[in-house]
Amino acid sequence: MKIFDGLYFYPWESYSQNNCNSLMITGKVNTLIDPGHQALFPQLAKQLESDGIDYKELDLAINTHSHPDHFEASVSLASYNVPIAMHPAGEDYLKKIGPAFSQALGHKMPEYHIDLYLVEGELELGETRLQVYHTPGHSPGSICLYWPERKVLISGDLIFSQGVGRTDFPGGSGTLLKESIERMAELEIEVLLPGHGPAVFGAQDVKRNFQFIKQMYFQML
Ligand SMILES: [Zn+2]
Repeated sequence: MKIFDGLYFYPWESYSQNNCNSLMITGKVNTLIDPGHQALFPQLAKQLESDGIDYKELDLAINTHSHPDHFEASVSLASYNVPIAMHPAGEDYLKKIGPAFSQALGHKMPEYHIDLYLVEGELELGETRLQVYHTPGHSPGSICLYWPERKVLISGDLIFSQGVGRTDFPGGSGTLLKESIERMAELEIEVLLPGHGPAVFGAQDVKRNFQFIKQMYFQML
């Protein structure tokens, strides 16, 4: 789904297979965000191809966090010399917990190498300037990407349409999740693109979504 020139959103719509939503920022630096599970990547590759994007030619693969359903296929992209980016705490997490986590989900932890660390601050992708926010809670290395010029928030598994990321995985924290959500709620957002489920369009609906989340989930976190 093309959101506007230079931004594509690929929601995962299967009920039987867990995978994340993926995104593409195109331009001078063609960047795939959250490549998803290895076994399900061919389906994303087909969608990318129909939008004229060859995954073997990508310039960067960003991971909003290092859970396998977002990160795993990054490793096969690396074999085409696509650099892999994530927050340093995401790599720590992979080293400490990754193998057991993958095993629990019935996958083998792949070999990987992180090329670029994404820390809080500006990230220039050619003509596109993004703001990286470190937003722990769902996982220690979770990040959100904010595109100020277009008022887009790519929220990973921090928040969804009418939902929040799980905090019961290793390294999860309800307190940190709430703090991270409060920070993101301060931004001017017109398009919310979460790591699972549908997008939220329009500043009013995004605001309502934050209010709903605070009312429904904050007491339980
Ligand atoms: Zn996750």
